[in-house]
Amino acid sequence: MIRVTENLRKIRDLLAISAIEAERDPETVNLLAVSKKQPLDKILRVASLGQRDFGENIVQEGLEKIRATTEAGLTWHFIGHLQSNKTRAVAENFDWVHTIDKYKTAHRLSQQRPASLGPLNACLQVNIDNEPGKSGCASGEVAELAAACIELPNIRLRGLMCLPRIRHDFDGQRRPFARLRELSRTLANSGIETDTLSMGMTADYRAAIHEGATIVRIGTALFGERT
Ligand SMILES: *Cc1c(COP(=O)(O)O)cnc(C)c1O
Repeated sequence: MIRVTENLRKIRDLLAISAIEAERDPETVNLLAVSKKQPLDKILRVASLGQRDFGENIVQEGLEKIRATTEAGLTWHFIGHLQSNKTRAVAENFDWVHTIDKYKTAHRLSQQRPASLGPLNACLQVNIDNEPGKSGCASGEVAELAAACIELPNIRLRGLMCLPRIRHDFDGQRRPFARLRELSRTLANSGIETDTLSMGMTADYRAAIHEGATIVRIGTALFGERT
């Protein structure tokens, strides 16, 4: 348990150092604590230290944790592959979804989002390395998908998300993140302003911060290995 406390402190420091290295304001880099396959006691511990944002990739597991932590007032992000028959539970329970890659999914989420909750914050997932069989829309589809999503009343398009293939060198890690940043700039030039780049995890957060990440999704470095 003590380790989670230490880990959180260490990660906050490392994120701030990376931001400063990249000549960015550390306040512009937000930590998303990826709590998938981690027990509730660790989540509550991290929450008690001021961490607000948590990410889950399985709908059912996320729902159980959301229900068990309502009093803590946390912000829940869905970061897993979204099947079309699971959209309702996400629309009704999560605050963010990072993994929209089809208009059909976005449309359903908007229809199913209860108006009382306000719009669902959304990122489009981009298959940035163009990997066969991987989730995410193609880079060439981002503009059209974004333009369609901003018309949906109960979704608020916040930005783009990616999950590049594993690379071990810093410069190699930066390239896909730079491409995502470029896509976001192209959107802005076409009049679609967004404020979020959801990119970087335990192994590559530093490269992501250098390329402008505003949300880094960290699991292992914070909670330890998943069970
Ligand atoms: C599991 C997961 C993470 C966190 O990965 P770590 O390597 O444990 O930091 C980030 N993003 C997504 C989409 C994930 O599924």
